[in-house]
Amino acid sequence: MRLSRYFLPTLKDNPAEAQIASHRLMLRAGLIRQEAAGIYAWLPLGLRVLRNIERIVREEMDRAGALELLMPTLQLADLWRESGRYDAYGPEMLRIRDRHERELLYGPTNEEMITEIFRAGVRSYRDLPLNLYHVQWKFRDEQRPRFGVMRGREFLMKDGYSFDLDEAGARRSYNRMFVAYLRAFSRMGLRAIPMRAETGPIGGDLSHEFIVLADTGESDVYCDRALLDLPVPAADTDYAGDLEPAIRRWTAPYAATSDVHDAARFESEVPAERRLHTRGIEVGQIFYFGTKYSEPMRAAVTLPDGSSRPIHGGSYGIGVSRLVGAIIEAGHDEHGIVWPEPVAPFDVGLIGLKPGDAAVEAACDALYAKLEASGMHVLYDDTDERAGAKFANMDLVGLPWQIAIGPRGLAAGQVELKRRAGGERVELAPDDAIARLV
Ligand code: ATP
Ligand code: MG
Ligand code: MG
Ligand code: MG
Repeated sequence: MRLSRYFLPTLKDNPAEAQIASHRLMLRAGLIRQEAAGIYAWLPLGLRVLRNIERIVREEMDRAGALELLMPTLQLADLWRESGRYDAYGPEMLRIRDRHERELLYGPTNEEMITEIFRAGVRSYRDLPLNLYHVQWKFRDEQRPRFGVMRGREFLMKDGYSFDLDEAGARRSYNRMFVAYLRAFSRMGLRAIPMRAETGPIGGDLSHEFIVLADTGESDVYCDRALLDLPVPAADTDYAGDLEPAIRRWTAPYAATSDVHDAARFESEVPAERRLHTRGIEVGQIFYFGTKYSEPMRAAVTLPDGSSRPIHGGSYGIGVSRLVGAIIEAGHDEHGIVWPEPVAPFDVGLIGLKPGDAAVEAACDALYAKLEASGMHVLYDDTDERAGAKFANMDLVGLPWQIAIGPRGLAAGQVELKRRAGGERVELAPDDAIARLV
């Protein structure tokens, strides 16, 4: 992408409304624009990051055996009356009437709708287990939308739902999601720690929140530092096999959100030097809730003996748009964002240091073409800005690599390659720079 053709409205100054680094940087680097309180437009650069996160989430869901579908954002109020949650949900729910005075709502979550889809399509125990997910916009009329996309009112969530015959099966489904979550967050360059959590309005008796430790996080959490170094299950994990050993390894060390924290247990189980009481960002949560929805909504399957039984359910959310903020909280410095490679909007920023210099422009064009041909995504600053401004802009935008080409280096057959994280620079021939990157 040539910057001269791109839409990247960056800001020189820190926006006054942004209180935390990720919000500030997302506005300054031209990733998002606020359209109303807690409601954001995703600009081209921000959308590329959002899509990368979605892709990783989808790959890990699919690997774990979940199936993607897409449910609408609008739901009928009557569906929520079946579960009893329409009145219980409170002012966070955006309630809407259509021209026929029919009551609708903008979905804050989808347990009711997926249960309706399930009961219409599944009859027999033979169709279980089933795990369905989608990636869809949600609306929650948060009392205090803040920190940019971290606590939006409209936000993108991956939400998945499992259906099993009994509790043992539901726990296996839960375990598959547990492992898939560890893998997905780790692939985004994050260490997300599963912590015992309250089940809240989703209901049920087993739940973990996945928490990224950060001072700016809104969750108050307690955990054993041992969790910071545990290995994440590998890509070739057998999801059909027994995942209990992996789950036990990850749930043995103490980790709990303040809602369910047990101070006495914490102090007896965790040696003082390993006790961590800090803040964190909830990037995902998984629930086992049994028959909470299947009983009132009559989602049942027929057993071999002809009898019928309500299914055991679980639900699994990931805050896709919140993750963009969380990843920036975990990766930035005083100059700007430092993207982990798998989610970066482009792989390389290419900078021509002397606009109008024919040799420099030819070298930039040639390198740009070669990098793109080898599958790299390149943001090529071909504008007339000063070199200093171009460098500052690339640091702000935070692409993992930068290549700068100027007349002096070029005379010696060299370009400068810089790694954004760490800032190391090397001078090398253009082809060697390509070889380093691809
Ligand atoms: P929170 O405690 O932050 O309000 P939640 O527990 O209400 O979140 P869940 O119902 O568990 O949220 O939804 C699944 C995921 O969706 C959360 O783990 C979080 O990452 C994300 N999420 C929830 N609310 C928001 C929001 N207002 N803005 C952005 N992401 C959100
Ligand atoms: Mg909430
Ligand atoms: Mg929560
Ligand atoms: Mg939650």
